[in-house]
Amino acid sequence: MHFVDAKGILTNSGGHCGMNIYRGCSHGCIYCDSRSKCYQFTHPFEDIEVKQNAPELLEKALKSKRQKCMIGTGSMSDPYMHCEKELELTKRCLDVIRKYEFGVTIITKSDLILRDIDLLDEINQTAKCVVQMTLTTYDDDLCKILEPNVCNTKRRIEVLEEMQKRGIPTVVWLTPILPFINDTEENISAILQECARVGVKGIIDFGMGLTLREGDREYYYDALDKYFPGLKERYIKTYGNAYELPSANAKVLSKYFKTFCKEHGIMSKSDECFEYLGEFPEKYSQLSIFDF
Ligand code: SF4
Repeated sequence: MHFVDAKGILTNSGGHCGMNIYRGCSHGCIYCDSRSKCYQFTHPFEDIEVKQNAPELLEKALKSKRQKCMIGTGSMSDPYMHCEKELELTKRCLDVIRKYEFGVTIITKSDLILRDIDLLDEINQTAKCVVQMTLTTYDDDLCKILEPNVCNTKRRIEVLEEMQKRGIPTVVWLTPILPFINDTEENISAILQECARVGVKGIIDFGMGLTLREGDREYYYDALDKYFPGLKERYIKTYGNAYELPSANAKVLSKYFKTFCKEHGIMSKSDECFEYLGEFPEKYSQLSIFDF
């Protein structure tokens, strides 16, 4: 872990604000796209870069914003990785978001988010908060191999349940689905049943497969050699150097997924889910005269 003073914290694309307080991640998911070379890391992925001035930068940015909006975090690294327990930078940023009455949406795999449930609840009551969790693998032993340094899927479902109990809406990322590993109807069905039981609002899938590119591919193949001997060769034979690696069961799984979501009133179109995540509630969007 190393500390830096960042120049800025909020990125703006298409009217949506995003922030990454950390760069790199310690959860160790074997398929992690964020390790890909295209992101130009100048330090080892596990040597987390900590933007130590993130809360101050965020406060400065939100103070001068004329329009309230949703702020997303967690797309490139988990905001609740292990170092957050001590550093509390995500927590302090949430407190800034609460203070200025913006909305927030967080993607995580960690139950550490429960520490901040009161803050999330408050943000949800004054604006909007959506908690997003990635669920890929229902089987505990397999989950431990694929996502070794973070709580398992069953615990993540408990987190979703806690959020739902507090009225905080949740969205699930059902991706990636790894060919020949977790691309079974049994796995997808077990996860979907739990999503319906706890009442998640939407589920994002990207066509039941995996993407690999330089940097990410090498790390993934090393893990296959370690835990699934012979599988790397099967991947190379099936997909060559392709970026997109759809599961051979993709059609069946996607159909099952769509039907299930429709039957249970869960949003399943990615566009629809993203629109929902990015929407700041109109009734809160007017700044009060005290904001000027
Ligand atoms: S939690 Fe996300 S960013 Fe962290 S290792 Fe896993 S896939 Fe990568």
